[in-house]
Amino acid sequence: MINANLYAILAANFPGDKQACAIETDSGEYYTWEDLERGSAMLANLLHDSALPPGSRIAVQVEKSVEALILYLAVLRAGLVYVPLNTAYRASELEHFFGDAQPAIVVCAPGDFVWLSRLAFASGVQQVFTLGSQRDGSLLARAARRSDRFTTVAMGNDDLAAILYTSGTTGRSKGAMLSHGNLSSNAHVLRTFWGWQADDVLLHALPLFHVHGLLVACNGALINGSKMIFHSHFAARRVLADLPRATVFMGVPTFYTRLLAEEGFDARACTKMRLFVSGSAPLLLQTFEDFARVSGHVILERYGMSETLMLVSNPYLGVRIGGTVGVALPGVAVRVSDGSGQPCAPGEIGAIEVKGPNVFSGYWRMPDKTREEFTSDGYFITGDLGKWVVPQPGEPPYLTIVGRSKDLIITGGYNVYPKEVEGFIDRLPQVVESAVIGVPHPDFGEAVTAVVVVRADSAKDEQTIVATLKSQIANFKVPKRVYFVDQLPRNAMGKVQKNLLRERFASA
Ligand code: AMP
Repeated sequence: MINANLYAILAANFPGDKQACAIETDSGEYYTWEDLERGSAMLANLLHDSALPPGSRIAVQVEKSVEALILYLAVLRAGLVYVPLNTAYRASELEHFFGDAQPAIVVCAPGDFVWLSRLAFASGVQQVFTLGSQRDGSLLARAARRSDRFTTVAMGNDDLAAILYTSGTTGRSKGAMLSHGNLSSNAHVLRTFWGWQADDVLLHALPLFHVHGLLVACNGALINGSKMIFHSHFAARRVLADLPRATVFMGVPTFYTRLLAEEGFDARACTKMRLFVSGSAPLLLQTFEDFARVSGHVILERYGMSETLMLVSNPYLGVRIGGTVGVALPGVAVRVSDGSGQPCAPGEIGAIEVKGPNVFSGYWRMPDKTREEFTSDGYFITGDLGKWVVPQPGEPPYLTIVGRSKDLIITGGYNVYPKEVEGFIDRLPQVVESAVIGVPHPDFGEAVTAVVVVRADSAKDEQTIVATLKSQIANFKVPKRVYFVDQLPRNAMGKVQKNLLRERFASA
């Protein structure tokens, strides 16, 4: 039987020369492919010695480091379940995750050990190790005397590999259960679809606790045996300095706007680059166009989520269309439905639904919620709204995301899609960016409300914005009020936290 353990699949694609550099860090360290194999074997032996029952969860909240990636590989090798946690989470959030995932082992930053281990033990966790970003902490010390050989545990495609907690911009975080088969099928598909090449070098500046940085970026480089340059966090200046040595870069839209604002960023800095990928949040058309003009590269925007990994992508070969997230990936069925399973015609807005080997099996210990989120014919209801656009008759349709269904505003019986209104506001010369939300209104049910960031030298002029919009869009879509803020609240992945804005302006 073929071992479907994701680690076995990744390792089968590591290059023949195990002494070649697999990862280089921004503090000048080099890790070979052998280091990844031996390091993950030592950690897998340590985990294995705890004699945990199959399916035990290992929750990890640590700063980004190569050792943190090796720990992920070790958990896969040992046949256990990896639960990455956003480093921003504090006690009350961690209490929820520990209570929900009931991990057997927690790995945390050394500086958090005292308070976090108390919390973990109170939730029934058996062991707490620490791992710092400078190879410090008890985890590596305990693994140091373990053997550097380990036979990767045999797993089936449906066996659980990871639980990813959704980022929770619309409610309580839920654990998405991802199998070895989900992860490997998506990594294989993206390897071909994005044309990964033998000498690719991935410049990696994303966090490791999220689908984008871990399961798209790292799995993508590892399954192609490609070197990564690891940055501990995104800094435009450092990315600019390393671009001449890289061929692939993946980022959230904010990375691209910051690169564009960085002095010295131009086409010369990108001559070796093959591919820039954007995702996790909508890429503004303006950024897409500015980036092409300044760098000579057309950003490839793709769409995915913790529950489904990547499902739609602009093509590597072929036309990338700004404002769209591209075509359905091979082997993935994507539809825009009217909510009763009937497909919408191109141009019509509906619920984005997906089925395929990339789609998770359900939310951890939430069978009712899982049932609600799948249609009777087995499609996962993403919660995003979108529409198909057909660029040329006879060509595959491209998907445009219109917003989250929970963000949809219903005002006086009319549906308002925030992204459409934001598009008009963002085009005003004085505006940097905007978020459109619905706030409770006695008459309309909800009132369209805009929260806007204006350029430093521009006036915060509500009347002008409202008057301009009135000349451009239907009256019911025009914000009843415009509020000005210095910046929009964003989570670690660059998504605007509309829930916070709705709370803040609820009584406005
Ligand atoms: P997460 O599970 O944290 O990756 O969040 C997934 C959500 O991010 C999706 O359901 C979308 O709402 C949003 N998202 C991901 N990629 C894109 C994209 N390219 N454009 C717009 N929204 C996106």
